[in-house]
Amino acid sequence: MIQLSKPDIGELEREEVLKVLDSGIIALGPKYQEFEKLFREFAGAEHALAVCSGTCGLHLAVRAAGIKQGDHVITSPFSFVTSANVMLYEKAVPIFVDIDSQTLNISPEKIKAKIQSEYDWKNKLLIHKKTGAHLSALLPVHIFGQVCDMDGIMEIACEYNLPVIEDACEALGAEYFSRKKNKWLNSGTVGEVGVFAFYPNKQITTGEGGMIITDREDYAEAIDSMRNQGRSKDGVWLTHERLGYNYRMDELSAAIGIAQMKRIKNILIKRQEVAERYKQMLSGIDEVEFPYTASYSRISWFVYVIKIKNGINRNAMMDGLIKDGIQVRPYFTPIHLQPFYREMFGYKEGLFPVAEKISDRTIAIPFHTTLSEKEQKIIVNSLKQQIQKHKSHNHIAV
Ligand SMILES: *Cc1c(COP(=O)(O)O)cnc(C)c1O
Repeated sequence: MIQLSKPDIGELEREEVLKVLDSGIIALGPKYQEFEKLFREFAGAEHALAVCSGTCGLHLAVRAAGIKQGDHVITSPFSFVTSANVMLYEKAVPIFVDIDSQTLNISPEKIKAKIQSEYDWKNKLLIHKKTGAHLSALLPVHIFGQVCDMDGIMEIACEYNLPVIEDACEALGAEYFSRKKNKWLNSGTVGEVGVFAFYPNKQITTGEGGMIITDREDYAEAIDSMRNQGRSKDGVWLTHERLGYNYRMDELSAAIGIAQMKRIKNILIKRQEVAERYKQMLSGIDEVEFPYTASYSRISWFVYVIKIKNGINRNAMMDGLIKDGIQVRPYFTPIHLQPFYREMFGYKEGLFPVAEKISDRTIAIPFHTTLSEKEQKIIVNSLKQQIQKHKSHNHIAV
C-alpha cells in the first residue's frame, strides 16, 4: 500500500525526545518554550503559543477575538470540519461563503456581496437584517497550503472593523504577496491571529499539536492564560482568573517540534520536489487538472489534490486506485453537507455550488517527503488506467 501521507521523522527527533525523557520533565518544562521561540523566528511573529492541537488553537483564537454566543463568523465551506466547529463550541454561527474555483479559497468578492446584501452597518457593527445577529469576525482558511487573497479579505476587515483569524493549519511556510504592502508575507501573520497544526500529515508534526501566532499583546496574554486553566502569568498556581482549559503542549511533543523546526527548510524543499515531479508526470494527461497557484502565492505543499474533469466517474476511479494499493481520499466534503450540519442548519446541496462541484471532482493522492519517483510513477500509471476505464463512453456512435 502506498500511504497517503507519512511524517518525516529522523535521528534528530529521536535524540530530542530521549533528552526530554532522561530529564524527567515531561510537561510544562523548557522545551515548549524553545519550540515557540524557533516557531516565532520562522514565522516572524511577536508571540507564538504552543497548544495540543490545531483545533485547540482555533478555539482559543475564537475566544481571544471575543466571538460570543449567537455571533456570526464568515468562513469557508471547503475545509476540514474543525474550522467551522470552533464557532459552534462558543455557540456562535459559522456563515459560509463560497470559494474561488481556482484557488479553492474563500472569495473576498463573495464575502463583500454577502455582507452588503444581508447585513446593516449600525453603530459601527454589522447586524444581520433578519436575525439581528452580530457579524463579529472573518475566519479564512488557507486550503491545501495556498494563502487566501488576504489583501481582499483585509480590506473588508478594515472597512467593518472585523478581526481576522487565519486558519493556517495547512499552510506552514506558505507566503502571500501583498500588493498593498508590496512585499511577501508569511501565512498566519496577516490577520490578528494565525493558527497552525502538527498532526502527522501536516508539513511538520509533533504527534498531536498546534501553534497560535499573533502580534497582539492582549491576544497573547489571554491565550496563554486560557491554555493553562485560566491562570495568570505571574499568579498563584491555584488561582484561576478566567475560564480556562488544559490545551497545553507536553514536552515530548515539543521536543519533536524542535527537531522538525531545525529541519523545516529541508522538509519544505523535499515536499516541493515531490510536487514538481507530480506536475511533470501529470502534465500530459488531459483529464487531470493539477493544483493551481495564484500569482500572489508561494504554496507550501500540504497534500497533492488533483481535479478530475467531468465525464469520468471519480468515485469508481478512487475505488480502482485503492484496489491498486494506492491510498486516496476525496478532499474535502463541504462542511455544510456534513451530516450534523445538515441536521443543525438544514443545509442542502446547491447552496455553495463552487465548493460542491469541486469536492465532487477532487482526489488527494499520496504525498509526503519520502515518496519516491518510482512510487509516483506507479501512482500516475494507475491514474491513467483508471481514467480510461471510467470515462463515460456515451460519445461512441451506436
Ligand atoms: C488539520 C487542520 C486543522 C487542525 O487539526 P487538528 O487535527 O486539530 O490539529 C484545522 N483546520 C484545517 C483546515 C486543517 O487541515
